[in-house]
Amino acid sequence: MRRPARAATIAYPFKKGLYLNITNRCPTACRFCIKRALNWRFERWDFKLSGREPSPRLVLSEVDAAARGRTFSEVVFCGYGETTYRLPDMLAICRGLRRRCPRAVLRLNTVGLGNLIWKRDIVPALAGALDAVAVSLNTADPARWAEIHAPLARFRARGFASCLDFIRRCVKAGLSTTVTAVALPGTDLAAARRLAESLGAGFRRRPLI
Ligand code: SF4
Repeated sequence: MRRPARAATIAYPFKKGLYLNITNRCPTACRFCIKRALNWRFERWDFKLSGREPSPRLVLSEVDAAARGRTFSEVVFCGYGETTYRLPDMLAICRGLRRRCPRAVLRLNTVGLGNLIWKRDIVPALAGALDAVAVSLNTADPARWAEIHAPLARFRARGFASCLDFIRRCVKAGLSTTVTAVALPGTDLAAARRLAESLGAGFRRRPLI
């Protein structure tokens, strides 16, 4: 099994869940992101994979190690990167997770650009593998979305609209769908909540770290 840089964390217990860090690739450079300020660390963990993304087999062996003697109510794809870049591997990991922890909720935390990344609708695949998605939308305003997320050029023009469409499709596919918004100064959280609700999703405010 290929292993990332020695200290890199792949599976880490956080709150009630087990969280998985399987890529460092991002389609955005979110203004609120803490990865650079914290030198890719968070609490006692180091999330820098140094370009060596862990195989599904390695991820599941790290899950087994982290879950020894413990139970988790959820397993969350959430590290310093956008997990949908690794869609096929994520689906394989989900299959292994279903066998290991059938009662856990499987959730993806995402910036919502998976359909643009893959140039197709990935929601049916997600709905077949996951229970829930949390989409980091952060604003109801397209211009502010571009300002907050600083997307790569290929995501700039269509990113916001694609993210809204992704949310709509997740709701329709039966995924428990939550829109999140970081409480950045100047952000209209009430408008973000209204937009989330108009798409049929739940809403959660996240504190600025
Ligand atoms: S997608 Fe996540 S890891 Fe990437 S820049 Fe945004 S907050 Fe940071």
